[in-house]
Amino acid sequence: MVLIIPVIVIAVLAILMCRQESRRRKISFPLALLTCIVTTPLIGYFIIVSRPLRQPQGCKWCGNMDNEAAYCGICGKDAQGMIRPSGK
Ligand SMILES: [Zn+2]
Repeated sequence: MVLIIPVIVIAVLAILMCRQESRRRKISFPLALLTCIVTTPLIGYFIIVSRPLRQPQGCKWCGNMDNEAAYCGICGKDAQGMIRPSGK
């Protein structure tokens, strides 16, 4: 019965870690949580941490801060202000 307390503590820590890391990295929260359940929170942590960070470069032309692609999704310009070549 005493063993249930550390299990709850580890589970809460794993959920919080998954929430935190899924915001910063390219992994969704359900997938991060599933990884922690299927493997163990310790192995799952290393799998999640090995995912690349989200680094939206944003767009300085229209202020779209969430842009992650080479060409902005809103105004279609890249970092140099060149418009996406269309038609090809
Ligand atoms: Zn833009």
